[in-house]
Amino acid sequence: MITIKLDHGPAATLKGGSTVAQAFQALNVDTDRQVVAARGDGELLDLARALTHDCTLSPVTLNSPEGLEIMRHSASHVMAEAVRDLFPEVRVAIGPAIESGFYYDFDAPEPFTPEDLGRIEARMAEIVAQDLPFVRAEEPREQAINNFQAYGETYKVELLQEIPQDKVSLYRQGNFVDLCRGPHVPSTGYIRAFKLTGISGAYWRGDERRAMLQRIYGTAFPSQEELERHLELLEEAKRRDHRRLGRELGLFSIEEEAGPGMVIYHPKGALLRSIIEDFERREHFKRGYQMVMGPQMLKAELWERSGHLENYRDHMYFSEVEGQTYGIKPMNCVAHMLIYKSRVRSYRELPLRFFELGTVLRHERSGVLHGLTRVRQFTQDDAHILCTPQQVESEIVGVLDFVFDVMAVFGFDYEVELSTRPEKSIGTDAEWELATTALINALAARDLPYHICQGEGAFYGPKIDIKLKDALGRRWQCATIQCDFTLPERFDLTYAGPDGERHRPAMLHRVILGSLERFMGVLIEHYAGAFPVWLAPVQVVLLPITDRVHDYAEKVANALRKDNLRVEVDDRAEKLQYKIREAQVNKIPYMVIVGDQEQANGTLSIRQLDGTKSNDVSLKDFKNRLKKEAKIPSPKKSKHSRR
Ligand SMILES: [Zn+2]
Ligand SMILES: [Zn+2]
Repeated sequence: MITIKLDHGPAATLKGGSTVAQAFQALNVDTDRQVVAARGDGELLDLARALTHDCTLSPVTLNSPEGLEIMRHSASHVMAEAVRDLFPEVRVAIGPAIESGFYYDFDAPEPFTPEDLGRIEARMAEIVAQDLPFVRAEEPREQAINNFQAYGETYKVELLQEIPQDKVSLYRQGNFVDLCRGPHVPSTGYIRAFKLTGISGAYWRGDERRAMLQRIYGTAFPSQEELERHLELLEEAKRRDHRRLGRELGLFSIEEEAGPGMVIYHPKGALLRSIIEDFERREHFKRGYQMVMGPQMLKAELWERSGHLENYRDHMYFSEVEGQTYGIKPMNCVAHMLIYKSRVRSYRELPLRFFELGTVLRHERSGVLHGLTRVRQFTQDDAHILCTPQQVESEIVGVLDFVFDVMAVFGFDYEVELSTRPEKSIGTDAEWELATTALINALAARDLPYHICQGEGAFYGPKIDIKLKDALGRRWQCATIQCDFTLPERFDLTYAGPDGERHRPAMLHRVILGSLERFMGVLIEHYAGAFPVWLAPVQVVLLPITDRVHDYAEKVANALRKDNLRVEVDDRAEKLQYKIREAQVNKIPYMVIVGDQEQANGTLSIRQLDGTKSNDVSLKDFKNRLKKEAKIPSPKKSKHSRR
């Protein structure tokens, strides 16, 4: 007999080997097609899994993030079965759940077509209607290898050969067997509302030297309504895609002939970028940061000392000059260490906050590059804070306040994650304790709810990550605050304490927006290209109706430019409607129409991007209104900052 306890609930005594579902029944948990799995002593279990020893169970429902993931992952098995039924010559690779759905990679002789997706969906619907159970079996690894080999499933064989355990778990539904850890929903009927959303190429294991596979994306939801809402969001995301808008708005391009992952800023994009940089500089100066600049490449010996050669080499580019190897910087830390070390430091100088808009190069596989959000060269709003151990907590609070002020300016919501000590780490227990406590206390000081990512900190210290949420509710990594025990050690940084002795300073790496490239990509999609006036590369376009008013239009434009407003005059010999249409496509916040009448009265006719019109506006009134809107907003006090 075994004792199964419900988490925060009663216990029941059952025969050893009873299933999770039977345990829930005995514990009076109503499973009724809402509960899809269980968490037992920290592990996720199928409802049909046999329980062999005492444990505490909690139900995992379809509406929880875990339950949803299990359902979506199960849907990927169903998709693979459908594909195998329709295309018997296809070999299957892997099929995980991802943030908003699932995918499965196939090695197919012919690329799948959109029509194929329709057929696969129809076959999936049949499999779902049959309500086939997902059945788990364990077998010796060698036997599984032989079986998959016999079926020609070479990708599964490769995966199996890397599994260290002697026994592996397999799941079968209908006539499809997959190597999988599980868990899954009890049967295919649990997959309520699903849709295949796209096809793309994907290298086996993300490695461009390996086979190019066909990846089919799909998503699944507990209800049809939720699925439909999601599909609408996807449509909207497509409409806002920064790669398309970037081209249409003349912001940037990425050219194959220049190199993948290398962004080329066009005039309006470079202007937008410099507006963001000006904002950043101002906000950093206000908060006691000092601006510094390091070189683009530094001697390899320095990267050896910093540990980058050992831990980060594969992501770095190198160059050789006069027989000396240089590493092109993938991070900005090293030069900042040298600045600190350039003279003897006293505790009176601390904290030191070195800030750099630092451009870095990192080798990312070409397969993962994506528009501005994943590139090879990017600029970080990077800073390193060197302080006494006692100052760490208040410095972290200061960075948190900074982040939330900035998020408020751009109108972003956010989520906070704390990542703790990983299995492989350096530093002493006392150092980890101090740093982790400082991070936790700082979050508590600002009353911030956060999610703990156990063991996901960097090997050199714990960190806080802040994910911003854009207008479509998508999460993006932006700010991070990392404690670091290694660099002060490796570079032997010290300061003279009040006791006259030499002490080791504490060190924080932090970014606020993160990569400016990615942030701009996110901004473009967040605003759908219609930037607020202070960010818009062109704030006003003047549209003269006839050549007769050309001088008047220029006069108005120059008057606005005198106040640093960004103005264009569209004096092409095109029809007014055409010019208005084009200004709308370019998402310019203000169109100013001038004709004979406006010239005679010395007024302006104004049309905003949202369609609002106002006529007979004096230049003075318009200018004053624009100046107000064009001001870089001062961060308001966000709800969490209490300065
Ligand atoms: Zn699975
Ligand atoms: Zn750093």
